[in-house]
Amino acid sequence: MARAGRKRCDVTLAAVTKKFSAGVIREAHGLGLRHFGENYVQEFETKHAAVKDLTDATFHFIGHLQGNKARAAAQIFHVIETVDSAKLARRLNDIGTPLEVMIEVKLSEEESKAGAAPEELPALIDAIRACPNLLLTGLMTMPPWSDDAEKSRPYFRRLAALGRTHGMEKLSMGMSHDLEAAIEEGATHIRVGTALFGVRPQGPV
Ligand SMILES: *Cc1c(COP(=O)(O)O)cnc(C)c1O
Repeated sequence: MARAGRKRCDVTLAAVTKKFSAGVIREAHGLGLRHFGENYVQEFETKHAAVKDLTDATFHFIGHLQGNKARAAAQIFHVIETVDSAKLARRLNDIGTPLEVMIEVKLSEEESKAGAAPEELPALIDAIRACPNLLLTGLMTMPPWSDDAEKSRPYFRRLAALGRTHGMEKLSMGMSHDLEAAIEEGATHIRVGTALFGVRPQGPV
């Protein structure tokens, strides 16, 4: 942190608990973690009942959100980090629950990656700001996977530049293997699973 010229309180750690049981969320909460990331609406719906009494916890949706899951997601998550179209934003807005959202930005050429292209940002930001139930706070990205964290750095730098251009307060970037580079490049939120909990269990929860 100090090496990156950042203060500890500048960076929020979201514990990524996908594929782990609700018990793991409770345990992590007991140890002081307050932000949790989940990728699958259906999976978290089943775990939510066991953790919804943790009223000081903030649950972030960090997976790909299909329109038909928007309503369910809005009911169990506080922050949707992966809004990537005006259509999805309007769908979330129409549910009527106040929601914090971030825009997922696609910075790589990989076909499989979700997210809005950088050139789509001005129109998408306008569309989200026109939604009275949505509070747009930042940008999120996921670089192509590489075990070399330095390969992620240019993507983090690019997201930080876009954040400055568009006046975004938050940047959600960096995972277990590249969180240091992300913090050095200005992450305000890191999403960490494996480094906290070990290798994820396989199969359905
Ligand atoms: C799973 C996941 C993470 C956490 O990955 P780890 O390598 O386990 O830290 C972070 N962000 C997103 C979007 C994920 O899907």
